[in-house]
Amino acid sequence: MNSNFATSYIEISKEALQHNLKFIHRFVRKSVQISSVVKGNAYGHGIEQYIPLAQECGFDHFSVFCADEAYRVHQASKGESTIMIMGHVENNQLEWAIENNVQAYVFEMDRLEQALRYAKRTKKKAKVHIEVETGMNRTGFTLKDLDKALAFLQEHQEWIEFQGLCTHFAGAESVTNYYRIQQQQKQFDKALTKVALYPVEPKQTHMACSAAAMRYPKTQKDLVRLGIIQYGFFPTNEVLIEYLTRKKVAKDPLRRLISWKSSVMDVKHVKKGEFVGYGTSYLAGEDRTIATIPVGYSHGFSRSLSNQGRVLIRGQRVQVIGTVNMNMMTVDVTQIPSIEKGDEVVLIGKQGDLEITISSFSEYSDLLNYELLTRLPRDIPRYIVE
Ligand SMILES: *Cc1c(COP(=O)(O)O)cnc(C)c1O
Repeated sequence: MNSNFATSYIEISKEALQHNLKFIHRFVRKSVQISSVVKGNAYGHGIEQYIPLAQECGFDHFSVFCADEAYRVHQASKGESTIMIMGHVENNQLEWAIENNVQAYVFEMDRLEQALRYAKRTKKKAKVHIEVETGMNRTGFTLKDLDKALAFLQEHQEWIEFQGLCTHFAGAESVTNYYRIQQQQKQFDKALTKVALYPVEPKQTHMACSAAAMRYPKTQKDLVRLGIIQYGFFPTNEVLIEYLTRKKVAKDPLRRLISWKSSVMDVKHVKKGEFVGYGTSYLAGEDRTIATIPVGYSHGFSRSLSNQGRVLIRGQRVQVIGTVNMNMMTVDVTQIPSIEKGDEVVLIGKQGDLEITISSFSEYSDLLNYELLTRLPRDIPRYIVE
């Protein structure tokens, strides 16, 4: 792969991250550690580019889903940082994790036993976070099974470090789940009561994601796992509107880090009555000028944006016409007589006074911000800009 040959690129703004961090520090208590969640290729921002940037801005704790991501964070890391795997890790990967001081969630006995085995083999302590099932019903020890895990931790203290006790909320970003979130906190308290009966003690407890940390400050515990908010997005519009209402402010306080850009590949004129692109989905009602852009659904620009999406060229908003192809799309640039091959095209982000937001995207394409971001392919080059 030669990133100079790519047809589009992504810029990540350092200033925006610094801005968002200031915002985060306004609502996260001083004593609480912040883990930067970088699963899903750092929510599409690119682990390799994002980690050194985040470290420079002050993050020193990163959470990922699996060992593959942990490995990439480890490789990209430029300083001392803690890495925590919140999801999947195979036995052979556990050995690598322990050797490299990478912490991991444990939610069933087999993994705990394997952690012991590999800790002994590598002669290093395994640092585990015991995940508790509190109502999401995905992964985690039930309160009943927790006894077994705690007894095991007690017996093998020499090899297994009880780094954390944790859980995850089943939708803190929607008020619909209010009751369930309260119940989950109660269950977690019960788990804590149980843990107190054993001589082993977790170094940290944690449960909050971005939405929980903002909406339910009590859930901040010793550590918060913040994903979407560091990248400049509220988890949902509901959380944004609640914030604006509560603070009596009008403007979204966060800044997006990401911009996605390409350039005009070709310009042509189409006569009234002609179809553009595959099939008949776009008929030129008038004479039109059309620009081709070398970005399509294989690059993450959803096909559902056919005849709907918008991009910015020469400071103007122009519309996608016809179907989005695998590698290309066409836009109507009749309103820009000066258009030229090579002109910058903004697919996401700002140009002049205008902005294409990811959430506008999600409205046409029915995708969440989370999904849209993480669908940005890994091979689009990413660059940090000040
Ligand atoms: C993704 C994830 C988070 C972060 O969620 P955001 O809504 O992006 O802040 C926190 N904890 C766990 C277990 C996760 O999987």
